[in-house]
Amino acid sequence: MSKVILITGGSRGIGAAAAKLAARRGYAVGVNYRTHSDAADAVVAEIQRGGGTAIAIQADVSQEDQVLRMFRILDERLGPINALVNNAGILEKQMRVDDMDAERLLRVLSTNVIGAFLCAREAVRRMSPRHGGQGGAIVNVSSAAARLGSPNEYVDYAASKGALDTFTIGLSKEVAPEGIRVNGVRPGTIYTDMHASGGEPGRVDRVKSAIPLRRGGTVDEVAGAIMWLFSEEAGYTSGSFIDVSGGS
Ligand code: NAD
Repeated sequence: MSKVILITGGSRGIGAAAAKLAARRGYAVGVNYRTHSDAADAVVAEIQRGGGTAIAIQADVSQEDQVLRMFRILDERLGPINALVNNAGILEKQMRVDDMDAERLLRVLSTNVIGAFLCAREAVRRMSPRHGGQGGAIVNVSSAAARLGSPNEYVDYAASKGALDTFTIGLSKEVAPEGIRVNGVRPGTIYTDMHASGGEPGRVDRVKSAIPLRRGGTVDEVAGAIMWLFSEEAGYTSGSFIDVSGGS
């Protein structure tokens, strides 16, 4: 039987690339999406055309009832979860801190931190031998912003990813004795639609001269790091972070 992986925000960008790579590595894939069922269906169809198994599951990861429903659907349709990628994330318009309101910070924390927490908790409830599980692994998609701080652009987003990293470290130690590994991947500036949501579609090309490797990254380069953390070669790696940020 195939191992089961759930990828949040899996209908586009880094999540879609990770979903397709996971399928090529033999996983049955739960492709979570919040709003764009057509995009999620396209990822599922591509995986199925390649002979793989995938289903699309709608849920806003910041909403507890929707996360519980998503995991129930995953249990019923694909079986026990082995791997979780907490990839769903939001980035709001570039802004100085002087202009930010608390609602913005709450929105960013709701998806980037609470969403990851809720999904990780549900995964642990299934993976841990305390609940009859057989172990597993979790990868949290953080950001180089957690180290760099994103001044004048998105300090709120950077702070949310910093919180996610600290959650990754604590959770990794808490569940390691139960055979669950927890790691993070910190992408730098990657060519995806996220920058358009952040209000600047051409951002990657604007900032690339400041990146040591002098280019933006691809979604496949991030997906490769994510999937390595689920591999047997990563069996002794937990509480670690892979920076996929062109040397930044
Ligand atoms: P993206 O905007 O293309 O994809 C993010 C996905 O998450 C979208 O499909 C979106 O619908 C989904 N999503 C957002 N909120 C959600 C919610 N509440 N519930 C369910 N799904 C939700 O962006 P991406 O660049 O592919 O980003 C993926 C991850 O990588 C994010 O966590 C992001 O913070 C991180 N990241 C991206 C970059 C970059 O340069 N693109 C850099 C560092 C980190």
